[in-house]
Amino acid sequence: MAENYVNFLAGNPLNRLSWLRSKTKFLEDIIESNKTQWIVFKNGYPLATTSAEGQVKGLASIGTSPLVNFLGPKPFFGQGQTEGQSGPEHKLLEGARIRGRRLVFLGVHEPEGSAALPSHEFINPENGSDIQGQPWFSIDIGDAPEDELERFLESVPVAAGEKATFVEPRGAHGSFSPLHASIFAEARSMVDWNNRNKFCPACGSPNFAMWAGWKLTCSTLLPWADNGSKAPCPSGTGLQNFAHPRTDPVVIMAVLDQTGEKILLGRNKRFPNGFVSCLAGFLEPGETIEKAVQREIWEEAGIRVSDVKYHSAQPWPYPANLMLGCYATADASQTIRLDLDNELAEARFYTKDEVRAVLAHRDGAVLRRNEYKRLEEVESGKALAPEGEPASTVSALDRPSFRVPPISAVAGVLITEWVNGRITNVAIKSSNL
Ligand SMILES: [Zn+2]
Repeated sequence: MAENYVNFLAGNPLNRLSWLRSKTKFLEDIIESNKTQWIVFKNGYPLATTSAEGQVKGLASIGTSPLVNFLGPKPFFGQGQTEGQSGPEHKLLEGARIRGRRLVFLGVHEPEGSAALPSHEFINPENGSDIQGQPWFSIDIGDAPEDELERFLESVPVAAGEKATFVEPRGAHGSFSPLHASIFAEARSMVDWNNRNKFCPACGSPNFAMWAGWKLTCSTLLPWADNGSKAPCPSGTGLQNFAHPRTDPVVIMAVLDQTGEKILLGRNKRFPNGFVSCLAGFLEPGETIEKAVQREIWEEAGIRVSDVKYHSAQPWPYPANLMLGCYATADASQTIRLDLDNELAEARFYTKDEVRAVLAHRDGAVLRRNEYKRLEEVESGKALAPEGEPASTVSALDRPSFRVPPISAVAGVLITEWVNGRITNVAIKSSNL
């Protein structure tokens, strides 16, 4: 059996122990274990270590003690009606956090070869002592006062000459180790989902987190809730209507011509000038992967494609996408038109030699941190359009003729695999399928 292709940000090895998210005693035991590690965010920006000059060294994972002020009073999970009190045995209070910042239990990184452990019968071993490996949690502390955040940053242990700081993630995650990047992808999507969803979608009342951040439910359903004359929340009847974390599938595809020697790349209007990539779009309800690929290419470039093949997937936690990397084939003599959904600024077929030259250039598959920051501003409506070609210390003659995504993005993988001859238009030669 061939191994599947594992993209950067994928391959998360944690044992998520989903059957223990509801076990308050388990959560209370492991959260204070001296083995526990945290990924900390400030409004979606992860805590990283950087050099004194600001170069990202890696993701900072820290223990529970520097964070203890941000976790609120105990109990951390299974909270009751009043602060400091545990709730009664109740289905809706399993691993529940009624007040305080949302905390997410990500899973346990077990040592190589260890058998996975506690069954759903887990009952208090001493201090979670039968857990092998590192439990991982995540939190966003962006709502804390600045001076508190400053003190926290100073308390984070770092190597000599380094400092702890919150960083723009898309420009920084390529500097994380593959292990940290894969856990970060889970953490960022989960923390973001918790922070964006504070109210019940059915009745608008505040909601609360159950199952260590993996389910949200309406506070009017709490056993002690006094709802007065308010109509019962629709989520409390019939099938219990919890809100579950989102994953938004996106198709991203390298379209090859019929000879397999040319690739269709385009520049989205949000991208920096000179930067082209594979076309992409959200998969819609009622659609298959193949149909979404065909529709998106038609909408964005006005051409018909066939022979869609899946290659590999990549979690993309901005905030909760799952990129489904595909190849497809098109007759390159079709007229490309960008005026249908008007999303692209330019698109054309590039030859293998053109792309190979760009990949060989040291700046050919690089997006700079300030460009990611600008992209984020454009996407959030704070800026209208990408800046022009960024200032460069090299002369125009020494710049690549265009740029493509780095290998840390699945689009970069699709392009590079093709250039390296591992893909043709008729069959994917890679042994990774
Ligand atoms: Zn409700």
